[in-house]
Amino acid sequence: MEPDPRPSLAVWKFASCDGCQLTLLDCEDELLPLTDRVRITHFLEMSSAEDSRERATLEGTGPYDLSLVDGSITTAEDVRRVHHIRRISRRLVTIGACATAGGIQALRNFADVAEFRAAVYADPEYIATLDTSTPISAHVPVDFELRGCPIDRGQLLEVITAFLAGRKPNVSGHSVCFECKRRGTTCITVAQGIPCLGPVTHAGCGALCPAYGRGCYGCFGPMVQPNLEAMVRELRHDGMSERDIVRVFRTFNAASPEYGPVPELAAQEAPETPAEEEPR
Ligand code: SF4
Ligand code: SF4
Repeated sequence: MEPDPRPSLAVWKFASCDGCQLTLLDCEDELLPLTDRVRITHFLEMSSAEDSRERATLEGTGPYDLSLVDGSITTAEDVRRVHHIRRISRRLVTIGACATAGGIQALRNFADVAEFRAAVYADPEYIATLDTSTPISAHVPVDFELRGCPIDRGQLLEVITAFLAGRKPNVSGHSVCFECKRRGTTCITVAQGIPCLGPVTHAGCGALCPAYGRGCYGCFGPMVQPNLEAMVRELRHDGMSERDIVRVFRTFNAASPEYGPVPELAAQEAPETPAEEEPR
């Protein structure tokens, strides 16, 4: 039999809700044409042990030309497996807030994991987990990070086709504010004083929330070189307390290294005599 000339694609899952993998499956119109150009050889979300070309395991055999990695690293076994996946992948791209910034589960990084474990599980002694949830790039070299919770399908297809063509993905690092301007949305911060993380958030959603009168809460994670100092100043000007500023950055992208300075910036800019905060 002639060898298959198509490059191979693998999709991997770590700690996540699977939403970013589903984004690939949601590419209904594009998926069949894509399979003319690429051989999807490992993708547990869309395969079964009976009919996949590879045995359906968490490991895969490789080598793969392109690996898409969804989810964050939360167990010692994850650490071992992500190094294995890196070894058998020519290119490795992380997809989504969990894989690029630790995800919602990174809230554990700021708390006591043992306390969480005891609150959630009847027999916490059987749960083996790390104290932190970290992005894939904290463990292995990554060729490209695609942000979003979940990712945007158009950006995902651009990343896959770019890597197959051997070029850099055309995914700009600019902010959601650019997308507001592009779709002609009036800035809700300027017009109504509504706090919005758009100036520091990575584009990709088409400025969805501001278009419906809501402030961006940063689900696409940090843009390239976000000006956090100015952002924190603006949020305070729009009425947010120090506590709320820290909390708004600790949502889907809690372990994002770019957001690391936020607590210090929020504390520095606290008013001399802060009003007492109401408990929430
Ligand atoms: S990035 Fe968001 S949607 Fe994707 S897996 Fe993580 S939590 Fe789910
Ligand atoms: S929160 Fe921000 S990045 Fe997320 S969909 Fe809304 S506007 Fe877009």
